Amino acid sequence: MSSSRYSRQILFGEIGVNGQQCLTESLVVILGCGALGTVQAEALCRAGVGRLRIIDRDFVEESNLQRQTLFTEDDARGAMPKAVAAQRRLGHINSEVRVEALVADIHSKNIEGLVQGAACILDATDNFETRFLINDAAIKHGIPWVYGAAVGSYGVSMTVLPQDTPCLRCVFEKLPAPGSSPTCDTAGVLSPIVNVIASVQVAEALKILSGNIGRINRRMLCFDVWENSYRQIEIANIRDEGDCPCCQLRRFEFLEGVGSAATTLCGRDSVQISVREGSCLNLKELAQRLKAVGKVQINEFLLRLTVDQFEIAVFPDGRGIVRGTKDAQVARSLYARYVGV
Ligand SMILES: [Zn+2]
Repeated sequence: MSSSRYSRQILFGEIGVNGQQCLTESLVVILGCGALGTVQAEALCRAGVGRLRIIDRDFVEESNLQRQTLFTEDDARGAMPKAVAAQRRLGHINSEVRVEALVADIHSKNIEGLVQGAACILDATDNFETRFLINDAAIKHGIPWVYGAAVGSYGVSMTVLPQDTPCLRCVFEKLPAPGSSPTCDTAGVLSPIVNVIASVQVAEALKILSGNIGRINRRMLCFDVWENSYRQIEIANIRDEGDCPCCQLRRFEFLEGVGSAATTLCGRDSVQISVREGSCLNLKELAQRLKAVGKVQINEFLLRLTVDQFEIAVFPDGRGIVRGTKDAQVARSLYARYVGV
């Protein structure tokens, strides 16, 4: 390494030579490699972390290029897996960083292995189910993680230090109902908000990795680049109630598979997605959001969305059937994108 590579970062007093050395010795795990993940990966690669492990189940599509900064038209034409395309690009940006690319769905059976050895985990997923899973794994193994989400022009970030700050379940006790929140595939997303949130997450990671824990943000940060608003929500006292199932009672329900959407093959070329019991979905509201996405048909029993070569039927109890694939991973991905969990 040329001594000038990280000179501006080392000049920043609280990082310094020692902080930089800590970065070089750290593994950061980035879960998801879409909009947030590509921005995080590039920044951490340039900052000189020792190892990056990037996990994503999807491949690059043309509609990603507006905001997913590591990908090119060639990647979209070649339908490259996102993790692999990111790894190649990062190799050109900083060849000193060891980048591991894993093309995989993140679920309760593999998450603990995926985050093993991480000094910090960055959330770049697109759904709450996976975030609750990250929260369980991170609390169980004592790994700091940074939650981040962006949709439309709005974004949120929160840093979780196990046994110190509130965890995601302290703040959001339950998973939101399927279909109750907008997703980037229904409400769109602007690249500036993605960059703001991913950058905040990277800054939090740099503090954690360089030993500046005292600098982390203990509040939840909300940002809207269109409404010109910036808010910090006080969450420090939430943990005092003492009954968080995850960080206080240490019941890791999501790791045990309680919250996960099970998939089963049903017939030729169809996958059924069953969500947890007691879910309730407003089909009319969902239909409104999906209007711009594809052809939507609705009756009192189900909503049917046709998009590309797929047909997604969603029932009021949240159950879904995806036609046009026999791949459970593809079905889960489509359900997360259009219905949202
Ligand atoms: Zn908690």
